[in-house]
Amino acid sequence: MSKTISAVRGMKDIFGDEARAFDHLVDTATDLLRRYGFQPIRLPVVEKVELFVRSIGEVTDIVEKEMYVFEDRNGDVLALRPEGTAGCVRAVVEHNLTRGQIQKLFYVGPMFRRERPQKGRYRQFHQLGVEVFGVETPEADAELIALTARLWEALGINGLRLELNSLGSADSRRRYREVLVAYFREHYDQLDEDSKRRLETNPLRILDSKNPDMQALIEAAPKLTDHLDEADRAHFEQVRAYLDDLGIEHVVNPTLVRGLDYYNRTVFEWITTDLGAQGTVCAGGRYDGLVEQIGGKPTPAVGFAMGIERLMALLLERNLLPYRSVADVYVVAVGEGAQRPAMVLAEQLREALPTLKVQLNAGGGSFKSQFKKADKSGAAYALVLGEDEVAARQVGVKPLRGQGEQEMVGWDELADHLQGLFCCYL
Ligand code: ATP
Ligand code: MG
Repeated sequence: MSKTISAVRGMKDIFGDEARAFDHLVDTATDLLRRYGFQPIRLPVVEKVELFVRSIGEVTDIVEKEMYVFEDRNGDVLALRPEGTAGCVRAVVEHNLTRGQIQKLFYVGPMFRRERPQKGRYRQFHQLGVEVFGVETPEADAELIALTARLWEALGINGLRLELNSLGSADSRRRYREVLVAYFREHYDQLDEDSKRRLETNPLRILDSKNPDMQALIEAAPKLTDHLDEADRAHFEQVRAYLDDLGIEHVVNPTLVRGLDYYNRTVFEWITTDLGAQGTVCAGGRYDGLVEQIGGKPTPAVGFAMGIERLMALLLERNLLPYRSVADVYVVAVGEGAQRPAMVLAEQLREALPTLKVQLNAGGGSFKSQFKKADKSGAAYALVLGEDEVAARQVGVKPLRGQGEQEMVGWDELADHLQGLFCCYL
């Protein structure tokens, strides 16, 4: 045997219950997104590195130390995408998707960040991202938050905390920056190395520091919310008023600045205390300047991304995965002469009943061994086909859960019969 090859550190395989949780999450979210008028978009995993430097910002953790960057054979410098918004904005600009209209898009896919792997933090992870282009007014922010709240409800996830802040406009941020720099200069000796560096380059980033020793200093720092201008303040108040009207509880966290530079005005995070330090399951905000920054016409925008692995862990930890068997009916076919008719029968059922999960026994075996597999599949009924049944064009329908005798049903009546048995379910 050859030596085995393992997956790359921080890049995990998703299978079994986790894969089912992944699908459940994406299916539920997709249904909901369509109800809110969103359309899917599929984007490349690789982009020019410049896109991320220009959008996420040069002095951010992502761009400084987390990106997978490589040189293509023709000398282009490319990166595995660390997030989806930048690529989505690039596509919107490149294909002129807004043309002055509102555009509501969503995507699901892998993202790559070279972080220290730990629970809820991987080097390849997945996000479900949602972006709205062309709405400046606060109803877009509020509606996106309402959508996420409805998603938690649909998934049965209780007790997430919604934190909200406003970063204001570029102007008010500039004013605030000066105040903040003055404050941190006064306490220069309490800054860690990262923060000292950021004081010169991107002082707001200091507020995003995860260093526990820095938290008291950050707590006491001047608040961005106290430096908003009138229009920013009104925008923020309106977002909050909408949330109040919808009964969506939230707390204002003045130190919430997010790890990416493109945000302005509303930023928000949904946080759980159940997953240790990696508690943010969904995060987003407004980024009115980004489209222009990427070369498009000025277009307001707001969006968010959910961390699928973290939500997946939450669903499994709280046992919120609905039970779904791999099969509704399991076709048992015994004897040489039953194999080909069984294949035809299974296909006929799949055609007649598009939502019925039909599993056909594979690999032969005795009645007993096939029934064992039927039972394990979770199917509610075994459809039994032996050579006698084939000769009589009949099928034995045997309940596998609870009591009940096997019934003989003619081939031509079988679809109707199953429709009756599964009436509410199909
Ligand atoms: P964190 O503060 O946890 O590093 P972030 O602010 O870097 O998160 P965003 O860029 O806002 O994260 O990404 C949105 C969401 O994607 C996060 O809230 C989280 O749920 C998920 N996410 C981010 N990085 C990772 C990762 N390395 N592994 C798994 N999920 C991640
Ligand atoms: Mg991060």
